Amino acid sequence: MTDVIVFLGIQGSGKGTQAKLLAEETGFQHINIGDLFREQISKGSELGKKVQAIITRGDLVEDELVFDLVQSSLAPDCPGIIFDGFPRTPAQAEYLLAHYNVKRVYYLDLSEADAISRIEARRICSGCGENYNLISRRPSQEGICDICGADLIQRADDTGEAIRKRVNEFYMQTFQLKELFKQKAALVELSASQPIRDLKSIITKDIQLG
Ligand SMILES: [Zn+2]
Repeated sequence: MTDVIVFLGIQGSGKGTQAKLLAEETGFQHINIGDLFREQISKGSELGKKVQAIITRGDLVEDELVFDLVQSSLAPDCPGIIFDGFPRTPAQAEYLLAHYNVKRVYYLDLSEADAISRIEARRICSGCGENYNLISRRPSQEGICDICGADLIQRADDTGEAIRKRVNEFYMQTFQLKELFKQKAALVELSASQPIRDLKSIITKDIQLG
């Protein structure tokens, strides 16, 4: 069975960053399911077309299809997979536990208030799509993209009520996942409030020991 490491955490917890850093360190393949869908759709692959039809209908992509996509995207000599923000449901977690060797599940813990303020601080370039954050990654000139000079904007779903709703849903969903992984796999909870570099060194040491 393929080795798997999972990163769970709310938007703004830095799970994508840590997943990417650990992928560089271990040679594991970093997989974000949302990016994988977008990639396959833009490539126009058979699986991509299937996914697009399902999303266009407003339906959820079935777990089996999700895992087919994952398998088809793996390099032949891939030593393992790092999932970022996946699984999302207990059913997906059960599938993962049954078909893969789940070595570690890292949960990057961020308080609800911190999560909201980190998401509210996000800005995106209206020209080139580059991401900024007024707390952790400020542009050198306020409101202007460093790369292309276009205006920075806030996405409509990164404000007020929309964030609170998303944040609530995340904690409800993730509570179940954490319980499941606590029983059946190695769950490690880490504070997401510490600097990226500190968190990275804790995770690197932990995975080398494990
Ligand atoms: Zn730009």
